[in-house]
Amino acid sequence: MNSLTKVAFIGAGNMAKAISIGLINSGSKPESIMVANPSAEKRLALANEFGIGQTDDNVKAAEFADIIVLAVKPHFINTVCTQLSQVNNIQNKLIISVAAGITVAQIQQALACQAGVVRVMPNTPSQLGLGMSGLFASLEVNAAQKSAADKLMKAVGEVIWLTSETKIDAITAVAGSGPAYFFLFMEAMQKQALAFGFSGEESRMLVQQTALGAAQMVAHNNIDISQLRENVTSKGGTTFAALEQFRENGLEQIVSGAMTAAFNRAQEMA
Ligand code: NAP
Repeated sequence: MNSLTKVAFIGAGNMAKAISIGLINSGSKPESIMVANPSAEKRLALANEFGIGQTDDNVKAAEFADIIVLAVKPHFINTVCTQLSQVNNIQNKLIISVAAGITVAQIQQALACQAGVVRVMPNTPSQLGLGMSGLFASLEVNAAQKSAADKLMKAVGEVIWLTSETKIDAITAVAGSGPAYFFLFMEAMQKQALAFGFSGEESRMLVQQTALGAAQMVAHNNIDISQLRENVTSKGGTTFAALEQFRENGLEQIVSGAMTAAFNRAQEMA
């Protein structure tokens, strides 16, 4: 990870674990990573599993690192950043925040300095290295820090850089909440598979493998998704009959309305 090599996670939960696994799998040395969490259980589990450093002292972890990843729930960010304002040279360290709804300005205010902040909106498949994250860098972030943030989040999936912080809310509406949209669709398909007489296990496998196959076809074919759909839809055939039902019942408007509701909610929560 270029010249910025030491990473501290504040919080030892799901996100810290996902990124730590990604970093170790992509060649970072365990001794270059430290995790801080007040309670011992998750902190020690993470440290013991990957051989990374651990402490119950957020300031100590932050002193160790060039990159500080704020991986606590949003309502703890203010307390944590106020603690980190005591860290030596904090204004020259890169702060990466994955906390939903917390702005760069709020973080800098609690840190009481204009440290470079990269705000990230990741999603849950990051836990499998299949995440999709939107990243926004404050003006203070230099080129080396931006490159380090890019590598850090690419360790758990794909990244898109945003030129405006408000776009984070759109990332939330598309990718952050997105996995649940697909889960809902898969649940509905699973229910109908059960109604057709398949067992629970068979229904799950039918839906799971079909979703996985469809996603892989999108990933491996550099053509429009609409073209992939047309390729499997012959006029008057079975797929055509199903897609007509979706159209007549306004699927596109439902999806657009749902994503707009997620976007509006993200803006309200910011
Ligand atoms: P999590 O599993 O609950 O982890 C948060 C960790 O922070 C816990 O281990 C908690 O410890 C620890 N913590 C609490 N107070 C602390 C403090 N003062 N100092 C240091 N550590 C403290 O949460 P998560 O799912 O990883 O989410 C973390 C952040 O990522 C959130 O802000 C969330 O918005 C964001 N995010 C997560 C996802 C995701 O896929 N999970 C997606 C998008 C955004 P205890 O449990 O011992 O209290």
